[in-house]
Amino acid sequence: MNTDPTRLSAAELAHAIASKELSSVEVVQAHLDRIAAVDADVHAFLHVDGAGALDAARAVDERRASGEDLHVLAGVPIAVKDVMATKGLPTTCGSKILEGWIPPYDATLVSRLKAAGMPILGKTNMDEFAMGSSTEHSAYGPTHNPWDLTRIPGGSGGGSSAVVAAYEAPLAIGTDTGGSIRQPASVTGTVGVKPTYGGVSRYGLVALASSLDQAGPCTRTVLDAALLHSVIGGHDPMDSTSINAPVPSVVEAARRADVKGLKVGVIKELGGEGYQAGVRARFDESVTLLQEAGAEVVEVSCPSFDYALAAYYLILPSEASSNLAKFDAMRYGLRVLPEGIEDPSAEQVMAATRDAGFGDEVKRRIILGTYALSSGYYDAYYGQAQKVRRLIANDFSTAFEQVDVLVSPTAPTTAFKLGDKLDDPMSMYLQDVATIPANLAGVPGMSLPSGLADEDGLPTGIQILAPATQDERLYNVGAALEKMLVDRWGGPLLAKAPQLTAKGA
Ligand code: GLN
Repeated sequence: MNTDPTRLSAAELAHAIASKELSSVEVVQAHLDRIAAVDADVHAFLHVDGAGALDAARAVDERRASGEDLHVLAGVPIAVKDVMATKGLPTTCGSKILEGWIPPYDATLVSRLKAAGMPILGKTNMDEFAMGSSTEHSAYGPTHNPWDLTRIPGGSGGGSSAVVAAYEAPLAIGTDTGGSIRQPASVTGTVGVKPTYGGVSRYGLVALASSLDQAGPCTRTVLDAALLHSVIGGHDPMDSTSINAPVPSVVEAARRADVKGLKVGVIKELGGEGYQAGVRARFDESVTLLQEAGAEVVEVSCPSFDYALAAYYLILPSEASSNLAKFDAMRYGLRVLPEGIEDPSAEQVMAATRDAGFGDEVKRRIILGTYALSSGYYDAYYGQAQKVRRLIANDFSTAFEQVDVLVSPTAPTTAFKLGDKLDDPMSMYLQDVATIPANLAGVPGMSLPSGLADEDGLPTGIQILAPATQDERLYNVGAALEKMLVDRWGGPLLAKAPQLTAKGA
């Protein structure tokens, strides 16, 4: 077995810890050392909680020593996107407006990680309030892609994908409102899953767009994602949109990995014009592999997907403008007093705080959303977008009458250079053209590395989509494809990434 714990998958770590080959303290310490060595370059963490993680690891080791029956992932550490409330640990959402805020409670998902005995290494960097596709909109500086530090790690959850790609954590939690788990996975050569809407509790997830947000796993393997999915999934009475049904049997599905007789639909509208040649080539090869493994592949048309981006950029800002109204200088975080006003009103303090505390992208979306919801425009914009949303859900229903899963490239390009799209919001928004339909319809999606694009040698991904509540299908197909691809590459794709070392080492 590899002696460096940071190179093991979560499943391997779980096994090593359960069989007492490694203690949780050793595993956590190895990851803290790795973070200390490379995170100055990657900048994937906003807060590292070394003491807390070691305490949790020690507690698990003691419970194991006393013979207690523990959860399969007990002792395996994890990093959490800074949009999830963590009791006693800063939660900034990548924004200055929440600087210094320490939540008095844990998100349900975080409570479940703790209950499973998983030490939390820290909180990961993200675009401010999860708005973006590059993690450059973080108020705390961008995260760098471990494959090439001059490039973006995707967004909004670039930190969570970068920590697993850089071996700073075996597992991480992301959130996906329009693609923020899947697109970062695609551009960092890792696995990312957005579960069915309602499959993972949103209680304690600081809302961007409540009808679209969903938390899920960021990992290096499909099996690891399934193991994590089963910890965080399941009904929660604290979230009124939580599905009241058992967690799908995703681990069994990942172990099954058999696509024989399955019908796979290639989405006609995703993958043509605007997609990089190497992204398309690796996607086509993956589809051929599925076919060779016994799947039947057909082309499926989802005509309304062409309008998904436009509908999303009305629905998301509308919900965001309402959700972000609570950052009013009265309840949380930052409070800025307006200059030159002796006895400012509450409104004046609010305005000064929001002006100083929110970045440009957040302001842009609040303005857009407020406009779209304003009386006289509501029907023309928000109402119309909701109708398109229904058409997209109908396209999915029709498609899933014909096939078991749908596939497309995850993102149109590989990782672009930091700064390249910062002044061009529209081209940044286009990064999510393939991922957004799943959020609008609430269906689950996975991104899996499909290889390296020939033109730049950077990773790219294939997206797998399934009907709502049928998350197992993603894991079955994903694991089958992963096995074939890893065989073809002669090992995991990440082994081909330039190996980061400590500065000056
Ligand atoms: N990039 C998309 C956006 O900026 C997706 C964000 C997300 O999924 N959180 O809205």
